[in-house]
Amino acid sequence: KIRDIMEAFMKLNQKGLLIVLSGPSGVGKATVRKALFKSPDHKFTYSVSMTTRKPREGEVEGQDYYFVSEEEFLKRIKEGRFLEYAKFVGNYYGTPIEQVQKMIEQGDEVVLEIEVEGAMQVKAKMPDAVLVFIAPPTYGALKTRLLGRGTETEEIIMERISKAHRELTLAAGYDYIVINDDVDNAADRIKAIIRAEHAKCRRSLNGYLQLLEETKDE
Ligand code: ADP
Ligand code: 5GP
Repeated sequence: KIRDIMEAFMKLNQKGLLIVLSGPSGVGKATVRKALFKSPDHKFTYSVSMTTRKPREGEVEGQDYYFVSEEEFLKRIKEGRFLEYAKFVGNYYGTPIEQVQKMIEQGDEVVLEIEVEGAMQVKAKMPDAVLVFIAPPTYGALKTRLLGRGTETEEIIMERISKAHRELTLAAGYDYIVINDDVDNAADRIKAIIRAEHAKCRRSLNGYLQLLEETKDE
């Protein structure tokens, strides 16, 4: 029994974290994630999602999203090729499962940037995932950011804002809340969360016991 527990610890210890960043549209998830990825302390991998939304000006296939038709997306749902997926303001979005598993095994910190419904699916399927909710400092700041980005029509912005209201009430289902007042502050808080998660007993005990074993005669 103890050996089983130790083996489980060992497996957890070698893996990277699965980090889910979510929060309302326009709160600054992509901006904070890009600031976070500049940190040299971790090997981050961004999980590129698949969507039926049309590319925005400047978005790159395979880097921002994999852009596919609705027919292709529905086929992939049937084939079970998503870790999670959801429909958001008229379009499908989903996380392709293969790349995520591979990167975690390699020891990368894998970051998913997804909306709340998808985040809850990840929580149910992967209990070791770390769920971080990015919240705006005020409701007004959220509207200003979404309008300021200027990538959607007014109608879509209004839909996204009304959806944000519901999303903000779902923050309680997450492990952490990070307020995006300032981008660098928010990225720093996420780094602190990552360090704390790696130090958790269930992830780090095996490494510690090994160290004790190796140094027992010193
Ligand atoms: P999301 O990925 O959550 O939809 P974005 O990262 O695209 O949001 O950010 C939406 C807009 O808000 C962008 O124009 C971005 O420059 C701006 N923004 C992000 N974080 C902050 C912040 N802390 N303070 C002010 N503006 C911000
Ligand atoms: P946008 O159209 O602004 O790029 O994304 C709209 C919303 O869909 C955002 O909240 C974004 O985080 C979310 N999203 C992006 N990719 C995925 C995904 O793979 N799964 C889910 N569930 N949501 C996603």
